[in-house]
Amino acid sequence: MERERLLVAEQNARERAEESFALLDTFLNHAPVGLAFINRELRYLRINDALASLHGRKRDQELGRTVREMNPNMASTFEPLMLQVMKTGIPLSDMEMSGHVPATPDELRHWRVSYYPVRTPSGGIVGLGAVVVEVTAEHRARQERERLLKEAQEAIRVRDDFLSIAAHELKTPLTPLKLHLQMMKQQSAAGHTPKPHHVDKALAQVTRLSVLIHDLLDATRIEAGRLELRREPVELQALANEVLAETRPLGHQHTLEYEAPPEPLMVKGDRGRLAQVLTNLLENAFKYSPNGGVVRLTLERDGAQARISVKDAGIGIPEDQREHLFQRFFRARNAPISGFGGLGLGLYICRDIIERHGGHISVDTEVGQGSTFRVTLPLET
Ligand code: ADP
Repeated sequence: MERERLLVAEQNARERAEESFALLDTFLNHAPVGLAFINRELRYLRINDALASLHGRKRDQELGRTVREMNPNMASTFEPLMLQVMKTGIPLSDMEMSGHVPATPDELRHWRVSYYPVRTPSGGIVGLGAVVVEVTAEHRARQERERLLKEAQEAIRVRDDFLSIAAHELKTPLTPLKLHLQMMKQQSAAGHTPKPHHVDKALAQVTRLSVLIHDLLDATRIEAGRLELRREPVELQALANEVLAETRPLGHQHTLEYEAPPEPLMVKGDRGRLAQVLTNLLENAFKYSPNGGVVRLTLERDGAQARISVKDAGIGIPEDQREHLFQRFFRARNAPISGFGGLGLGLYICRDIIERHGGHISVDTEVGQGSTFRVTLPLET
């Protein structure tokens, strides 16, 4: 009788335990986070599909297996932490972990992981509960926000630098311009004809202002995709002659050399814009060879391309700065600040013009030796 009563009691207890496990499993499996109970040997006693799926398996395939067997790559990260929780009984909550799991070996993923000690009613630690919350999407969103913030801060810095450079560049010609105009005013007040020297100097400053303003407008047009090109047949030698007639060395000890083949080099393009590129390259060659030397403009035919090069014996460009040369507002570290400043727009505009003609612009340069800017343009056939 007593034996029967005990058997029934045991049967009831087993049913109740199975019921609680079934309840627990249902609860575990419907939780939106990874959950597991792990024993002292670091084997999974309970695990839900959310966590097992990180290992590329179903929960039944992981029961009784060790943490290391199921996730060999990351085991050395979390095994010591699990052992620590079981030794000290102190939970570890919300630890940031990153790594590669068997389900997605090529993807770096991120989790917030907590381990809690599991105790018997008498207080002994029999294992731990693990809670694993996937935070990869949040992590990426945070990185993206940080990247955008950095970009925005950089853009603001570039704009602020640019505004102060632009204000300085636009102001610089005003002082000599005012001075020469005052001299001219005094001379005419005294009944004299203003001296040509003052007229020329004043005009040179007006030209400088107008180049700066045109560069600013061009850069704005390029950014808005509104720089328009007219297409007409252009003979490069004739164009070079026109530009050379207009270009004066900057008063330093420069010699200007020019070489071109006898047969015409015809391209289809915007005459004014191509002249602007040539002028810019020649002016830079003078500007950035303050000790003078030879500036050489060469036109050549290279197969189906026309090649224009402008070579100087100037300051050159440091290696780490070269890749930025054709970017907006860029001025190399070794560009002199005084005397002949600039907005760092000329080469940016040149590149846009040349590339929109189907051509290419590049530079070959050595600090202290000089630079050669090369432009290629497709020839008209
Ligand atoms: P800017 O001359 O107005 O500064 P550019 O866009 O024409 O602007 O040139 C950008 C930068 O490239 C210059 O500030 C200078 O540092 C460098 N650079 C251009 N041409 C030369 C050259 N011939 N020799 C050395 N550095 C040059």
